[in-house]
Amino acid sequence: MFRTPLFVAATALAASTLFTACETKPATASEAASPTAEALAADSAGTPVTSGTAATAEAEANATPAPDPSSIPAGSIADAATITARPQVPILCYHQIRNWRPKDSKNAKDYIVPEQAFRDQIKMLADSGYHTVLPDQLYAYLTTGAKLPSKPIMLTFDDTDLDQFTVARPTLDKYGFKAVYFIMTVSLGRPNYMSKAQVKQLSDEGNVIGSHTWDHHNVKKYQGQDWVTQIEKPTKTLEEITGKKIKYFAFPFGLWNQQAIPELKKRGFVGAYILAEKRDPIDPLFTIRRIIASGYWSPRTLHNSIVQSF
Ligand SMILES: [Zn+2]
Repeated sequence: MFRTPLFVAATALAASTLFTACETKPATASEAASPTAEALAADSAGTPVTSGTAATAEAEANATPAPDPSSIPAGSIADAATITARPQVPILCYHQIRNWRPKDSKNAKDYIVPEQAFRDQIKMLADSGYHTVLPDQLYAYLTTGAKLPSKPIMLTFDDTDLDQFTVARPTLDKYGFKAVYFIMTVSLGRPNYMSKAQVKQLSDEGNVIGSHTWDHHNVKKYQGQDWVTQIEKPTKTLEEITGKKIKYFAFPFGLWNQQAIPELKKRGFVGAYILAEKRDPIDPLFTIRRIIASGYWSPRTLHNSIVQSF
């Protein structure tokens, strides 16, 4: 099941805010669902992906560098209906990548993917022929119809957890995969969270750093100065760390409202990511859907979820 997420790391929000809206059609796949040939092959193969395959995948993914969104003329940008009508690129959202502990709650385990389960999920993606894409590529695809690599997928990591650097990064490197890291800046340098140097390294290595607020407060409740504290200052911090413009935002808990979108645009963002609920028909670029890759999911379940949810 796609459980209603109730867990969030390192935040002290009131319990009433700790929910994420599920979409009406659950983004689920059961183990009993008939698997695709691809998923079966991935599950049964166990064949190591050769460096040659990884290199080819990387070459293909990097073949067409995406333009910076600011370089795309406004007149070339498709209208919202056209953007919404394009096939969605599957986007996965990860949080902690670590083995379960006895005190982890049932709900928390959706957000905590055990190390081997993570490696198995990523291997399945590589074996199934997926190529990771980054937000500028997705932006060019959505706005202008620019070509993407075959079987595109985006991998995103929220909340700054250290294991994203120590566990996920080496796994992605093995397959030439790049990812997006949505950072909440309050955690930088704290125990079990990434340091500024690690965030810079991820950026330098070709991954994308996005903003995920200062301390994970619900965007729907912002007033006045909150926009400075939660959005402006943290984004500036990330720009200082990476030396790059921060263009993309992920809503904490996936919670958004229409009032937030002009506020983000005003502050230079060109896209924002939610979770599995429906996109906004008016501003699909600011409500880009992701599904949480659950810690309970086998590679086959993940594959089925990708196919069914996007
Ligand atoms: Zn988060």
